[in-house]
Amino acid sequence: MSHRRPPLMRALQLNTVVLIVEIAAGIGSNSFSLIMDGIHNLSDEVALVLLVLAYSLRTGLSGKLLRYANLFNSVGLLVISVFLILRVVERLSHPVEVFGLVPIVAGLIGALANWGVARVLREPSKEDIAIRLAYVHNLSDTLVSLIPVGAGVLIFVSGSFLFDSLFALLIAAVVVITTLRAVVSSHEELLWPENVSCDHSGGEQTA
Ligand SMILES: [Zn+2]
Repeated sequence: MSHRRPPLMRALQLNTVVLIVEIAAGIGSNSFSLIMDGIHNLSDEVALVLLVLAYSLRTGLSGKLLRYANLFNSVGLLVISVFLILRVVERLSHPVEVFGLVPIVAGLIGALANWGVARVLREPSKEDIAIRLAYVHNLSDTLVSLIPVGAGVLIFVSGSFLFDSLFALLIAAVVVITTLRAVVSSHEELLWPENVSCDHSGGEQTA
């Protein structure tokens, strides 16, 4: 199983680029759409670290422990999302200046790096259900990272900083809905490491 580790490590490095660029640029430019996507990618980072650990220290990590770690990760993301949503709603009535070029550039870097994450996971995803879920998730994250780009473009076109807040709420909605769905159904991301298995049968998961 150790041959899965190199592509997972590359995915982790690329995802680190996304979260550092988006959070740093988001704080620097007052862009909540960037901060929201950065926090979302921070949660993805934790999920990827757990996946790396699952393949590196498989004998040392129980499926149960990993499942709880993923659950805490999801709940943590939901709590931070609610906190950010409240801050964004506050800002709706007192718009703060956001320099539109920053979310455009940082969002494009985020989308490119998220696409890179999916790209390096594509080959191993063909024979591994856990990596397959990470691949599909990060491929859709490429689109989510383009939301701040849209916000930046609209700020430029309209001159209204409101678009950053509105698009931050859009990202928050996507994140909250997909995370809740994962927690409630206890499938997909929540079970990434649970599905780690050397056999390629892709058989049914036992509870
Ligand atoms: Zn994600």
